[in-house]
Amino acid sequence: MSAPVNPPAGACLVDVQGLVIRYGGVAAVQGVDLRVHEGEAVAIIGPNGAGKTSLVSAIAGIVPPAAGTIERAGMPARGQALSDVVRHGIALVPEGRNIFGGLTVLENLRLGATIRRDGEILSDIDAVFGDFPILGERRDQPAGQLSGGEQQMLAIARATLSRPRLLILDEPSLGLAPAIVDKVYALLRQIRDRGVALLVVEQNAARAFALADRACVMSRGTFTLTGTPDEIRRQESFDAAYFGVAMSAGPGVP
Ligand code: ATP
Repeated sequence: MSAPVNPPAGACLVDVQGLVIRYGGVAAVQGVDLRVHEGEAVAIIGPNGAGKTSLVSAIAGIVPPAAGTIERAGMPARGQALSDVVRHGIALVPEGRNIFGGLTVLENLRLGATIRRDGEILSDIDAVFGDFPILGERRDQPAGQLSGGEQQMLAIARATLSRPRLLILDEPSLGLAPAIVDKVYALLRQIRDRGVALLVVEQNAARAFALADRACVMSRGTFTLTGTPDEIRRQESFDAAYFGVAMSAGPGVP
């Protein structure tokens, strides 16, 4: 993929050019270009092993590129520390959530705000408890005692506490019941409506399409289709049945 479809006017938060990621002899990502702008929601969908996690892990500074460039908020990623990624306004909710099960809910939330020096951290945490009373009720309990859905909410809330301009989510619906996925996606809509850009990796394409302004279909390390969800649905090569996406005008959320 090269230029983004209908590029929005906002600042470019992430600019990936010609990205290659290798694990030993295996090229997991093979020359991907991607830009994410302020305030937009971009979905990356694709089957297992397509390279989605590798791509977003590189954007989040966890996996080093073998070739290509990444800029975050206009700054080259090369040589940046992980803490710089958060400072540039990018937060990651990884696959599997990475909740610290032995720490309390409150301690997990505080970890999300470690780079902040302002005086509004506690009020932001109170706002999280207002939005998710169950997290407030369990604030002093080990996070490991929460259900999978509650842990996902906690992971997302923790990431928002760094006040990111871009939130990256790797498979936020994975392993969750449909009713819980509804809640997760309602939360993501709320976050987007507050002006935070989203980059969402999903195998559940219908969910991602219902949220995204743009989407990229990834297969074997490259983007095979890009466009608005409607444009992608109309592509002959898009296997809607495979991705569980309804072909009607509606988003087809299961
Ligand atoms: P999934 O949905 O299964 O996580 P994905 O699209 O996110 O898939 P990646 O996890 O990025 O894909 O994996 C892409 C390829 O890289 C796969 O072939 C995978 O086996 C391989 N791979 C990923 N991580 C590593 C690693 N740490 N070491 C070696 N190979 C890896």
